[in-house]
Order: sequence, then structure tokens, then C-alpha cells
Amino acid sequence: MRRPALPDAAAGTRIARQLAGYLTAPRAETRAPYAARAFHRAFETMAAKEPVACRAGCNYCCHQVVSARAAEIFLLARAVRALPPDAAGPMAARIRAAAETTRDMAVAERHRRNLPCPILEDGRCRLYADRPLACRAFASTDLEACRRAFAHEPVPIPVPRQAMALRGLLTRAGEAASRAARLPDDQYELIAALAIALDDPAAEEKWLAGGDVLAPAAARRLAAG
Ligand code: SF4
Repeated sequence: MRRPALPDAAAGTRIARQLAGYLTAPRAETRAPYAARAFHRAFETMAAKEPVACRAGCNYCCHQVVSARAAEIFLLARAVRALPPDAAGPMAARIRAAAETTRDMAVAERHRRNLPCPILEDGRCRLYADRPLACRAFASTDLEACRRAFAHEPVPIPVPRQAMALRGLLTRAGEAASRAARLPDDQYELIAALAIALDDPAAEEKWLAGGDVLAPAAARRLAAG
């Protein structure tokens, strides 16, 4: 089978401009959600349909440490708040509890414990439509490798090459867009960042005003060992 072509740099520049446009749009309330959705749409439209082993209900990869950009975090916080009240409260509570459990926990320990993402419900992503780019791009071509890695065997998980390259390109486009819009941005650890966004209803507004409110959740602060 021919390998799918990797996306070119010109596409990254075009997407960065488009995202910067959303992040500086006149209506502040649309900036984060529109930019995050455009970011996700770019992946969905540009990703090659490579054969993968992933199926609905399989969630080994939802037990890994996930990172996301600021606009994606605020999109997810909105999605949690928009759930029916009998679902929103328990999910927010699960996210806060998971953030508390994993606070200061080294990445290696998190992997050892196979902690599930608090957005999982009945084994499925409850906020699938708004899941971050990292979750969209990470797929496996070998279910057995996923099973064995989950059981802590030292096996690599084969991933679709084009999707990983596209994730890299879009990540750089997202960084460029945030810089152009003069907004603080980084890769943030999903659970800690979501807990911050849920705990402070004004967090998104403060971020749009230039405050790096998610800084305590920056993924680079995670201890590796
Ligand atoms: S956000 Fe959804 S897809 Fe991503 S790790 Fe959590 S449950 Fe899985």
C-alpha cells in the first residue's frame, strides 16, 4: 500500500492564520471554542484514512497522560458545563478528584497505575466530539500491542505515521496562532488544566485578557520519573 503523503508546511501556515483569526474575533465568547473546533476540523479533514485497530469502546489509550492546548481546554470545560445537570456535576467531581489524585504524581507512576481519564463513561469518551487533538491523532495499528502495553509489557505501540506528522504540524500551527493573537499557550496536562477551568468560571475570560491561568497545569512541569 502506498504511504499517505505528509502534510506540507504551507498548509500549517494557512491553518495558523485561520486559527489566529478565530482567536482575535470581535466576539470574545466565540474565540476559544471556534479556534479549538477549527483546530480539530483541520485534523479530521487532513488526516489520511489509514487502517487502525481502534474501535468504539476500546479505551486503553484513555489511561495515558494527555496534553491539550488552552483553547481545547476551554472548549472541554464548556462541554462539561453544557451536559445535563445529572451528568455535569458528577463529571466535574470526577475531574476534580482525578486532578487531586494525580497532583505531583510522576508520569511513570500514573502509567503504572493505569488511571482512567475522568471523561470516560461506561468505557467511552463522553465528550468525544470535543476531545483534544492528542486523542484524535493517537491511534494504534495493533490491538495486541495496546493490550500488552496496558499490562506494562515493554512493547511499542505502532501508530499511523501521517496522523502523528499531522499532529506535529497542527501543534506548531496552534503555537503560531496563539503567538499572533498574543495569548499565553502551551501544552497543558488535560486533567489538571480542566480542573482549573472548571473551578474558576472566569478562567477563559482571564486567559483572553492575557493571563496564563492554566500555567500550573503546564505539561512540561510533569515529573517524568
Ligand atoms: S478526552 Fe476522551 S478520548 Fe481523550 S483520553 Fe479522555 S476519554 Fe479518552
